[in-house]
Amino acid sequence: MELEKPISAPFRVLVIVAHPDDIEFGAAGSVAVWTEAGAEVTYCIVTDGSAGSNDPTVQHAELVQRRQAEQMRAAEIVGVRNVVFLGYADGSLTPSLELRRDLTRLVRQVKPDRVLIMDPTAVLISGEGFDYINHPDHRATGEASLYAVFPSAETRPIFPELLAEGLEPHHVNELYLMLSDKQNIAVDVSAVWERKIQSLLAHRSQLDESVVDMIRQWDTGAGKAVGVEYAEPFRVMKFYDATPQKDTPAE
Ligand SMILES: [Zn+2]
Repeated sequence: MELEKPISAPFRVLVIVAHPDDIEFGAAGSVAVWTEAGAEVTYCIVTDGSAGSNDPTVQHAELVQRRQAEQMRAAEIVGVRNVVFLGYADGSLTPSLELRRDLTRLVRQVKPDRVLIMDPTAVLISGEGFDYINHPDHRATGEASLYAVFPSAETRPIFPELLAEGLEPHHVNELYLMLSDKQNIAVDVSAVWERKIQSLLAHRSQLDESVVDMIRQWDTGAGKAVGVEYAEPFRVMKFYDATPQKDTPAE
């Protein structure tokens, strides 16, 4: 694993996850690092978070509203003001064409240089001291996001209805995958780690301070691999833009 090189020029990042709180577990520290370096970051939360309680007395509409407010607060703490809620039902998401089109629309609107998504290939995840069956909403979001980035966002004939909305193709240069079992880049989040924790704790309906020890263990583990106190690991892929540039003079 390598340490991520600091951002040198301002750029745009789009983060796409399934649930309110997914970003905060694994990527809010990196987002804080990027916004401090001048990046403009947009969050997209695909589901409404309505399955985030087993309490039979909880009103789902109220829970959805509360979780949106928590997500807005969590975003604000790490310098993010643009949060898009797609409102799909929590817990039964599939990587449908409808979802891929919605995400393709968003990629073409935001025009990000970097997109951060959930790794759709990770099914069974085991780390130091924990085992986890990856939530099917995470994988569905990951798959739809992956194919929104490529080929849908950059290919003109795919989803012609988006062209009719005035949304031109857009090529994404970098893909960051969270919850991946093939991590190759870690972001040093030591300087912003307290803010990451505050951002995570904004999700009061879902968790409390008892979660902090687990996150500390994850982030020190990733930090050790690259020689810093705290880090967040990702699988990172960088893509060559094969689209002919319009402004290149003909030879
Ligand atoms: Zn989740």
